[in-house]
Parts: sequence; C-alpha cells; structure tokens
Amino acid sequence: MSEQDWKLLWQVKMQDRLKLILWKIAAEALPLRATIFARMGATDNLDTILCPLCSNQAETALHLFQHCPVSRILWRNSAWPLDIANIPTSSPADLIKKLLNADDSLGIPPPQLQMFIINAAIIFYELWYSRNQLLHAGIPCIIKAKLVALARRYADHFHAWHQVQTLGCRLRWVPPEPDWLKVNFDVAVRCNGSFLAVSCRDYTSSLCIVYTERLQATDPLVGEVLAAVRAVELALENNWPV
Ligand SMILES: [Zn+2]
Repeated sequence: MSEQDWKLLWQVKMQDRLKLILWKIAAEALPLRATIFARMGATDNLDTILCPLCSNQAETALHLFQHCPVSRILWRNSAWPLDIANIPTSSPADLIKKLLNADDSLGIPPPQLQMFIINAAIIFYELWYSRNQLLHAGIPCIIKAKLVALARRYADHFHAWHQVQTLGCRLRWVPPEPDWLKVNFDVAVRCNGSFLAVSCRDYTSSLCIVYTERLQATDPLVGEVLAAVRAVELALENNWPV
C-alpha cells in the first residue's frame, strides 16, 4: 500500500482495534497457519496449515478474509452485501487497499465510504476472533450468532456515525428516565436501496434491542418513514406502551 493508503486507514473514524486488524492484514502481520509454516519451510503437512473455519484450504490472509466460505457468508449477509471473493486481488495489502478506496474500486458512494470500511473492519475482526476462539479454545463458529453480532455491532457504529454527522458535537444522546426505554431509528440511503437501523436503550444506555433491515427504497423520506414504522412496530411487538 502507498503512504497515502496508510494515511487513509488511520484517518478513518473507527476504533483503534478495527484499524489495527486492517493494518495487520495489509502488513501480513497476523500469525496465520500457512504463512507461519511457509516461513518455517514446512508446508507439507496439510492438517497443520488448514483454515480452522472451513478445514478446506490453506489458511492464508487472502483465504481467511476473502475466499473462505465463512467470510463470504458474513459479507453477503452484511449491511453491505458483497461477493468479496469476486474482487480481483493480488495480495492482502491489495485487498485492504481496494476496500479503503472502494469509491473508486467498487463504486461505493463517497459519503458512504466510512460506513463501508467500518463494515469491512468489523467482519474481518469477527473472522479473526472466531478463528482464534475455535483454534485456541475449541469454541465453534456458529454463523447465525455471528450474523446477529455483526448486525448489532454495525448498528452501533451506524448510530454513532450518524449522530456525529447530523447532530455534530452540540447535541448528545440523552438516556431515558428510569423504567423507560428510548427507541432511535435512522436510515442510510444509497443509489440501489437503503439500510435502516432501529435501536432501543434503557436508562443505563445499555442496548436492549437492535433491528436492521435492507430496503428497496431510494427516497430518503420513504426510508425515514419506514424506519419510524419499524420502530413503532418493534415497541408494539414487545408490548411497550408507545
Ligand atoms: Zn476457510
């Protein structure tokens, strides 16, 4: 990656641990099985270098983060559905470079680039975490649970980002009174559809429920109205007085 790409990575407004996972992938600094054994000159024992998540291919950075079936499922079902394996890449650094410059490489609208990069980072972070949990603690990677965790994490970032965008620093989210719940909703409109998120927090600011949905609508007003309707429906489904 060029100096400008590294600069771009550090300028993205997201948690350092998320920046770090993108940096480590690009710098080939993660202790992946095939990479380690290749450095040791011992790649003949296939069992020792197989990807722990799919047990089907050697575990390289491009396999785990781009071509592994688990990565492809997480990407396809994310807020930015993408067939990640179809992006032509020559190296892990090339993959990260293309994602950081997705406005040019994938046609992501520039105002949405920040959330696209955050989505990529939380998927990669989850893959690395799941792989370590499985390999070192024997905890299985349950795709359904991973998708729920990813949607929740994305919605958190989505709200934080839009709060900064729309309210600036002057207004802050205020928790509800004790025994009350506060439901917030928002929508991000893109040229080929939109993405709505509804979240509910209690007076301690703890997240109680997160709901996300992809919509066909490209009209911001329609998106906002649908998000408001979903928020009310969520409250009614849970028998909360609105
Ligand atoms: Zn795999």
